[in-house]
Amino acid sequence: MSSELWYKKKPEEVMDILKVDPKNGLADGEVTKRRDEYGSNELEGKKSITLFQRFINQFKNFMVIILLVAAIVSGALGEYKDTIIIAAIVLLNAILGLVQENKAEESLKALKDMSKPTAKVLRNGNILEINSGEIVPGDILILEAGDYIAADGILIESASLKVEESALTGESVPVDKDLEIPEGKDIPIGDRKNMVYSTSLVTNGRGKVIVTDTGMNTEIGKIAKMIESQEDLETPLQKKLDQLGKYLGIIALAVCGVIFLVGYFQGRGVFEMFMLAVSLAVAAIPEGLPAIVTIVLSLGVQRMIKKNAIIRKLPAVETLGTASVICSDKTGTLTQNKMTVTKVYTYNKLIDSEDVNIENTDEELAVMTGLMCNDSSIEENKGEKKAIGDPTEIALIVLGRDKGLYRKKLEEEMPRVEEVPFDSDRKMMSTIHKKENNYRVFTKGAIDVILDRCKGILIDGEVKDITEEHKQKIIEENENMASNALRVLGLAYKDIEKIPDRINSESVESDLVFVGMSGMIDPPREEVKVSVEECRRAGIKPVMITGDYKITAIAIARELGILESDEEAIEGKEIEKLSDSELAANVEKYSVYARVSPEHKVKIVKAWQSHEKVVAMTGDGVNDAPALKRANIGCAMGITGTDVSKEAADMVLTDDNFSTIVSAVEEGRSIFDNIKKSIHYLLSCNVGEIIALFVALVIGMPTPLLPIHILWVNLITDSFPALALGVDPPEPGIMDRKPRASDESIFAGGLGISIFVKGFVIGAVTIIAFYLGKEVNIETGRTMALVTLAVSQFANSLTIRSMDKSMFKVGVFSNKYLIGAIALSATLLLSVVFIPPLRNIFELSSLDGVHWIYVGLLSLLPMTISEVLKKIRN
Ligand code: ATP
Repeated sequence: MSSELWYKKKPEEVMDILKVDPKNGLADGEVTKRRDEYGSNELEGKKSITLFQRFINQFKNFMVIILLVAAIVSGALGEYKDTIIIAAIVLLNAILGLVQENKAEESLKALKDMSKPTAKVLRNGNILEINSGEIVPGDILILEAGDYIAADGILIESASLKVEESALTGESVPVDKDLEIPEGKDIPIGDRKNMVYSTSLVTNGRGKVIVTDTGMNTEIGKIAKMIESQEDLETPLQKKLDQLGKYLGIIALAVCGVIFLVGYFQGRGVFEMFMLAVSLAVAAIPEGLPAIVTIVLSLGVQRMIKKNAIIRKLPAVETLGTASVICSDKTGTLTQNKMTVTKVYTYNKLIDSEDVNIENTDEELAVMTGLMCNDSSIEENKGEKKAIGDPTEIALIVLGRDKGLYRKKLEEEMPRVEEVPFDSDRKMMSTIHKKENNYRVFTKGAIDVILDRCKGILIDGEVKDITEEHKQKIIEENENMASNALRVLGLAYKDIEKIPDRINSESVESDLVFVGMSGMIDPPREEVKVSVEECRRAGIKPVMITGDYKITAIAIARELGILESDEEAIEGKEIEKLSDSELAANVEKYSVYARVSPEHKVKIVKAWQSHEKVVAMTGDGVNDAPALKRANIGCAMGITGTDVSKEAADMVLTDDNFSTIVSAVEEGRSIFDNIKKSIHYLLSCNVGEIIALFVALVIGMPTPLLPIHILWVNLITDSFPALALGVDPPEPGIMDRKPRASDESIFAGGLGISIFVKGFVIGAVTIIAFYLGKEVNIETGRTMALVTLAVSQFANSLTIRSMDKSMFKVGVFSNKYLIGAIALSATLLLSVVFIPPLRNIFELSSLDGVHWIYVGLLSLLPMTISEVLKKIRN
């Protein structure tokens, strides 16, 4: 299709070529046919690497290379047994790495799939929301401010449509789009005003487009044969751990060098010392840590998906754990967004919506204004009714329907010809309709802005000049409705002779006639009350930000427990008067911001950030993007959010719910705790191994562990238990503590000291076990050292689960993965002691009852000491 010069054609010609009925769009059968012909609307991504390639990649690791060198050296010196064991261990390690990497990859892919974009199309006469990949040439796309355009197409309708096409043109200023066919030949993309292109963004207005090209045939498909989003997938913690890994690597190599030299000068064999140093280096460096961290993060992210939070940027997982302020929109996030009109006001008369009588001119016009100045609809698809659009507007459609008024029918007599779309800065919207001899403008919006634009008022079917007294009365009634937590919309109209030359707010939304107001309820979400309470315990301040009236906002905030006194609420116009530093000085006083525009949100975020707070901020509109980017955790709405807001956000709430943010914070805290547990475990075990070998060497003992023992212990203890600690359930009371400081070191809270104390005790019991067994023979000594070292690490993993609570309080069996991991690792450990051929290969010996008792007691000692220390500290 792309060979056509679409921008040179009239909409009718395009419809002809593509066989489109502009009223109904394509029929299902036609869509299937075209999908077969043109394929799905997707850009070909980078080819993923094969399993085999990934397996090979496992060997491109410094530690593995050292081990392979050691295997070759052993082979060259005739130590074939060592070669085989080392090779087997490397292989096992690679398989384990591969499984872990696959798991991480799968979850990242699941994440990508979750955030696939959608588009609105007209098919079979209905507006449907479909996956963007399902669009075919000939589809009619409906565009609104905030949408990403999913395919190339030609405009057939445009209302103040502005599009940003920087991905194609490099020009970041949005351009106006209309139906005019450009003059001349070879028009560059930026000047094709009558076309829109895939990956561009609608910044303003609305439009209807016939899709001309999809997938790789689009302009973006042509220039970018391969598009991969370059997201920063490493979290600050991962970066810190990379750094740490490097330092530890250097320290471990230095220690190994020292051990080698000490042993060499003590007259021990060069090969023996070389192998020991290599094994120790491998054991000492927690090379599995990065993979464990990735898995813990991605499993956490998957758990969050189940709880309705999609993480778009991995670093957010970590930031979530430190959140100290959550700024949330009111409508839909704190409330249910199920709007119902309960009151209708016409001058001097407030009535329940059931009592509205459309025989009365004022009441009929009030209902009609809400119905006509409306972009939402209730669509019927295969017998099922589905409301599409803004709940505020849907409520107005439902009110009309209850009174027997239907927009589609009314529009047959009064078709819409122009409009000034809603935006949350202006807080109103207008449509212009053709009548027999003239035109009618319907406007709805926030009551203060509407009143400012009114010249007349409708009273008992007659238009009068509006006076200050009228306005005063209306404002009083508005406040009365708002204080009952009603969302109030003002309604107005005017008749005009001709359509203004330029359609904008000034030309259309002036000299209006006030018709009335509608008041709707939007009940608070039940679960939010509990979450607000949880925030308070967790040291997180919940803040409400809304475009709605102060009185309505206060009423709902009070019900939810967000606010106690009216003093805690402030309006957008007051924020405007404050400088950034004045707001920063007072920001802690306010819990409710009413009548705000999106740009105030940025100011609020900055004010909190100046107090070193970590701010989560919700948003849904196009204009919310800057605030979402500026916030530490931008949260976009999955249901009502625009594509732009989702793109700017770190996290998308699939249920638009405040409580989801709070449970994501809990998950974030738990993930960080778990990563710390894995680090605590791995490093204390490594320190234990180094100390055992180093001390034995210095005091002139034979080496308590052979290189293959060290490698074996390392393989079985570092993998499964460390991973199981990473999926530990959240510690009880995790939301009762204050947020962690965002710059807090991983080793804060006594972790560093604990690693050394635990490592020291593990090292000590290993040497003692060796010493006791050595009395029989060296094999018995090494067997006892090996079992004690491994079992004390298993026991260590149980006590590490909480820094201050006893392991019995946390529940010894409450992490079934850990119990499973210990059982599996213990089986692997004992198999080399109990199965004779393996025992011979590993140069071990069987133990008698007394030695088993020694081993048992010594192995449990580090855990016991750790538990006693917790008790003393408490
Ligand atoms: P929140 O910020 O909590 O989501 P909100 O929905 O009131 O609250 P906006 O969407 O920015 O915030 O709306 C601001 C104001 O604009 C509303 O209080 C209302 O008076 C008016 N308004 C909202 N939706 C429409 C609409 N579809 N048409 C006309 N006016 C509207």
